[in-house]
Amino acid sequence: MSTTQYERVKQLRADRIAPQQLYIDGKWRDGRAEVLPVSSPIDGARLTTLAAAGRSDVNDAVHAARTCYESGSWSRSAPAARRQVLLRWAELIESHALELAVLGVRENGTELSMALRAEPLSAAATLRYYAEAIDKVYGEIAPSPANVLGLVHRLPVGVVGAIVPWNFPLMIAAWKLAPALAAGNCVVLKPSEKASLTLLRVASLAAEAGLPAGALNVVTGSGGECGAALAEHDDVDVIAFTGSGGVGRSLLAASARSNLKRVYLELGGKSPNIVFDDAPDLDAAVAGVVNGMFRNSGQVCIAGTRLLLQRSIAARFMEKLIAATERLVVGDPLAAGTQIGAVCGEDQLAKLMRSVRAAESEGAKLVTGGARILADTGGYYMQPTIFTDVTPTMALAREEVFGPVLASMVFDDEAEAVRLANSTALGLAAGVWTSDLSTAHRMVKSVRAGLIHVNCYGGSDLTVPLGGVKQSGNGHDKSLHALDKFTELRSAWMQL
Ligand code: NAD
Repeated sequence: MSTTQYERVKQLRADRIAPQQLYIDGKWRDGRAEVLPVSSPIDGARLTTLAAAGRSDVNDAVHAARTCYESGSWSRSAPAARRQVLLRWAELIESHALELAVLGVRENGTELSMALRAEPLSAAATLRYYAEAIDKVYGEIAPSPANVLGLVHRLPVGVVGAIVPWNFPLMIAAWKLAPALAAGNCVVLKPSEKASLTLLRVASLAAEAGLPAGALNVVTGSGGECGAALAEHDDVDVIAFTGSGGVGRSLLAASARSNLKRVYLELGGKSPNIVFDDAPDLDAAVAGVVNGMFRNSGQVCIAGTRLLLQRSIAARFMEKLIAATERLVVGDPLAAGTQIGAVCGEDQLAKLMRSVRAAESEGAKLVTGGARILADTGGYYMQPTIFTDVTPTMALAREEVFGPVLASMVFDDEAEAVRLANSTALGLAAGVWTSDLSTAHRMVKSVRAGLIHVNCYGGSDLTVPLGGVKQSGNGHDKSLHALDKFTELRSAWMQL
């Protein structure tokens, strides 16, 4: 980022943030439950308050979405007309990119350089991708007998409830909003109580872009009340969720208790990053492991949190890795030069500290990090942390920590690498570093994860789907496959 941009950041970080309201049926209004405080992980200071939606607010939002859907003003508009609105929305997001990024960072602590790219700019790219795709997706004519015309239409499902987490809220919400709206659905969006501000702001930009009232509604508030009310609602057709496995389970149960709505889950990971001794460039692999693990303080669903090193290079690799990790600059996420920002709140930091203590008591060896830093700022910062001597049965090797804590293990051959890689219940992403094309192809097929990187980690674009296997979820964000979640097939069998 340029010096001029950082000058603008200084102004933006000082902006007062008004108390936030709900966005329902194109209007802003207070919620019927108590407001929630919003504090900044940068320094612990109070930023503003958030309206908390109660059940009746959620009912109103679902009703607004349903009414808009049935009116056809969005759902039956020409795909090319929807494309125009989504493209205008993308343009507006892009022209407000720095403002949106700083707002988001003040709320969740992600380092600005990453937030700018991964949040507004990525959301604009996602809107453009589905805007451009939607008038190019055709139905089918079935190969039915000559006296029959068999048609397969792809129709919107109706009302979509999108529930998203606090890490990368804008990027992840866009992965759901863009395909859902492009396909003609109407949406009720429930952001995390820890990261709602940017999503409320982009809702106002959606209205400016011409999205009709009711097509997008935003209900903020607690997961247990507002989120649960959406999940249990009988008039919601699909829940598209990104978040933790525990909440994912509760959404499936809510669907079973209510109208059997479709539930798509993008959940956590414990992703292995596997370095073979023939990795093409060990220094590049070290950089890839550091980036794939510690950006956004490790609060990245696909973070490569389990490092599997082939024994012959393990000691040399670890030495380089510790040095690179200790060079990372952790601090104020809005300051120039910061590489790693804050963790998202006091409770998150406390949870991370408990994970470190638990790993030590299980016998893992702490080789760097492990402590809170910069406590005098009032913010929540943690040293990038590495454990070696981790065994597959330790909690550190099996459970998602969702912070800057890397668990390292050693393997002797490919079979052992695969066994270790697949030894958790999760399967979101993985990395493989090797010069051998055959090893790479075999690993892509044998490591059970939704996204496998080869000789890199992270950075895939919209052209490939992202989704978990095993307990990392079902369904996919990104790519044309995401449209499957937000459309249903309607067959016609027409006797001629
Ligand atoms: P979380 O599950 O605590 O919360 C996610 C959302 O669910 C929030 O909006 C929350 O308010 C809501 N919620 C909470 N309880 C609810 C309930 N009972 N009913 C309905 N909604 C409820 O997750 P988080 O802490 O916000 O996010 C971190 C998690 O998200 C990590 O596990 C991470 O791996 C996962 N994640 C996954 C992906 C992916 O693409 N697979 C991407 C980012 C984050």
